[in-house]
Amino acid sequence: MSEGVKAEAIAAHILERCSELSRCTETPGAICRTFLSPAMDEAHALLREWAVEAGMTARVDGAGSFIASTNAADDAPRLMIGSHLDTVPNGGAYDGVLGVVLGLAIAEAQPGGGLGIDVVGFSEEEGVRFGVPFIGSKAMTRELTAELLERRDGAGATVQEALNAFAKAKPDAVMTGLPKGTRGYLEFHIEQGPVLEAAGLALGVVTAIAGQTRGMMTFVGQAGHAGTTPMAQRQDALAAAAEWIVSVEEIARRTEGLIATVGQISAEPNAVNVIAGEARCSLDVRHADDPVRTRALSVIMRAAEEIVARRGLCCGWSEAHAEAAVPMDAGMVAMAERAVERAGHRVRRMVSGAGHDAMVLAPHVPSGMIFLRCPGGLSHHPDETVLAEDVAAAYKAGLQFLDEFDRAWSVGERRTSA
Ligand SMILES: [Zn+2]
Repeated sequence: MSEGVKAEAIAAHILERCSELSRCTETPGAICRTFLSPAMDEAHALLREWAVEAGMTARVDGAGSFIASTNAADDAPRLMIGSHLDTVPNGGAYDGVLGVVLGLAIAEAQPGGGLGIDVVGFSEEEGVRFGVPFIGSKAMTRELTAELLERRDGAGATVQEALNAFAKAKPDAVMTGLPKGTRGYLEFHIEQGPVLEAAGLALGVVTAIAGQTRGMMTFVGQAGHAGTTPMAQRQDALAAAAEWIVSVEEIARRTEGLIATVGQISAEPNAVNVIAGEARCSLDVRHADDPVRTRALSVIMRAAEEIVARRGLCCGWSEAHAEAAVPMDAGMVAMAERAVERAGHRVRRMVSGAGHDAMVLAPHVPSGMIFLRCPGGLSHHPDETVLAEDVAAAYKAGLQFLDEFDRAWSVGERRTSA
């Protein structure tokens, strides 16, 4: 079999496995797999079977993340390849899962270098059960804070209580931290957006995960009778909000790489015959470069102030959440770019607007991400899909990455021991 035909056959096999995993669900007829659920146990059982078939050892850690490891010398450098296994309610079959199943296929094909590989399926990335994301990767990097452990799910149980119950039910599942000797983390993930498809490319190399600010802008005017208040004497909060929303869009369009969204709006009293006295708008602003995001935010705030001053209203901003951008490791990015090229594909650098486990891993271990084209840009949806040829491309790029990573580390080790 030629290399190309072999990669295609493996890609088909990977897609079959993703669809098999999609049947591990809490909701019959739909895909839903949340943190520490029986459906997640079923997914682990399948993955364990596949890992053992591939000659790997498999375990689940104390936070319910799956880890399959290849054999290597005790002091061998190790590469972690993974993504997450949980889904949003009524999610797709590839978000997260694809990165884990691809990882297994890549580890299985490893041509026996000195490198150890750990394929990881994180237990919780989407934040469905407790309203906070990344519990799996934060447990592995020992970043579970007291505040996070006290969060409660819909049934009133805290994260800590859920972990205690899991430990009791599965005494073998212990918190182990990052596998010893881990020198890098590589995550394959569907893009979840339309950029690669529009560019006609199979793969993208992520340079950074965008920083983000979220908050609420409130416009306060004067409620009044819609029939009797002349246009010149109104302080219409909803009209001011509308003008601001359009200016947010304009500011984002003229700032390279800036993403800004007003996705939520409410008006008071919200009646058909009353001028709105108050309007509240959410704002979500993202950029790979924190100073650019901060500057854009102040331009957006000035736009609101100018609008309310002109219209005789007032406004107030309350920030709900801010997260710094997380750059991927320059060495991992360069290696991923060469791997994509050697696999026969044009390289596209891109910023991830969405959060991923790689942002939790990045402060602890050199991390990199490769995106796969997402047909229709559709994700977090049952119709989410991926092309077999792109999976084959990712698989080939993964092998190239592994090859260079292995050589880089064996040279590095020789240097240190010389
Ligand atoms: Zn995901």
